[in-house]
Amino acid sequence: MAGRATGGAGVALPAMLRALVLNVTYEPLSVVAGRRAAVLVLTERAELVHESHEVLHSERLALPVPSVVRLRSLVRVPYQRTVAVSRRGVLARDIHACQYCGDRAETIDHVVPRSRGGSHTWDNVVAACRPCNLRKGDRLLVDCGLHLRSRPIAPCRSLWVTTAVGAVPALWEPYLQAA
Ligand SMILES: [Zn+2]
Repeated sequence: MAGRATGGAGVALPAMLRALVLNVTYEPLSVVAGRRAAVLVLTERAELVHESHEVLHSERLALPVPSVVRLRSLVRVPYQRTVAVSRRGVLARDIHACQYCGDRAETIDHVVPRSRGGSHTWDNVVAACRPCNLRKGDRLLVDCGLHLRSRPIAPCRSLWVTTAVGAVPALWEPYLQAA
């Protein structure tokens, strides 16, 4: 769909306009079409926090298209939904650099091997190239002479927002920094 999309109420909006949806707690929850955010406000399921520069016109009203809305009731989100450890996520966090030698990484490695009780969590999983991964095997760092180039930590919880929109509007930034 290029250019303009027609909304359910016979209104037209730029198709690419997006709005950030916050939970009642102000935690970023999702990114939706601006049109969808306007419907959330109109149906009183969300309150308008920030307007965009676009205005949605229908026969009876002109409504600023939301840039940020906040839901009126709490949506419970499983913590894992935004921070699940995945091969793709770990490689993205470590910018595809092996955390042992700096070469390009294609695999992920559990710093403390799972067979030794290591957890599948952000602080125990790093990007690794195949040679380092093979060299390390099921051993602890002290036993194989490898060293971590940086301490692995969980990525920013709002990384998915950046992924969803590419460039994050300035209006959204305060809500993402708190996440
Ligand atoms: Zn390596």
